[in-house]
Amino acid sequence: MPAEKTINHGNLQNPSDLSYTTYKLVRMNEKITAGTLNWLFFPDQCRHCLIPPCLLWAQNTDAIYQDEDTGAVIYTSETQNLKAEDIIGACPYNVPRSAKNGMLAKCTMCNDRVKQGIQPACVKTCPTGSLNFGDLEEMQEMANERLEKIKLSYPEARLLDSDDVRVIFLTAFAPERYHKYAAAFDPKRWKSR
Ligand code: SF4
Repeated sequence: MPAEKTINHGNLQNPSDLSYTTYKLVRMNEKITAGTLNWLFFPDQCRHCLIPPCLLWAQNTDAIYQDEDTGAVIYTSETQNLKAEDIIGACPYNVPRSAKNGMLAKCTMCNDRVKQGIQPACVKTCPTGSLNFGDLEEMQEMANERLEKIKLSYPEARLLDSDDVRVIFLTAFAPERYHKYAAAFDPKRWKSR
């Protein structure tokens, strides 16, 4: 994908958002908790929901479909025949982005790589080993074990929507501190709608 042209907005978030060509973005927030400054990082992307609201809303399997082998939720060029605002609005994580011609795009879970037994590019290249990839049950088990350890130091730690998605985040603090759309049902967000 072409690199995003970045602009300095006076903070460390660059590029500032997901786009038609930026499928994954590390969101960065500086937050003070109990007098301590924390840098909160959140690698935002499509969660490849088990029952994807975007797909249900589209009702057009030529435009959006779920790969039967991997579970990846895939957008095709037919998405230009959908109403982009509706699909974006249906996603509880505010992930899809549209191009000028109306086509929608988002993370593909590197489905072409996965189908050949290769890890997604972000997992393969992450220099700190922060990302893991494997069968859902194995990943859920790993996430639960990790959560128990993290909770000893961060009692607020939690897994985000882990029964509903294929991309499971473990956050040390409440999800809304990282990003407004980090979890599907941030009560504050839904109250303001
Ligand atoms: Fe669709 Fe959003 Fe779920 Fe991705 S995270 S599958 S775009 S509803």
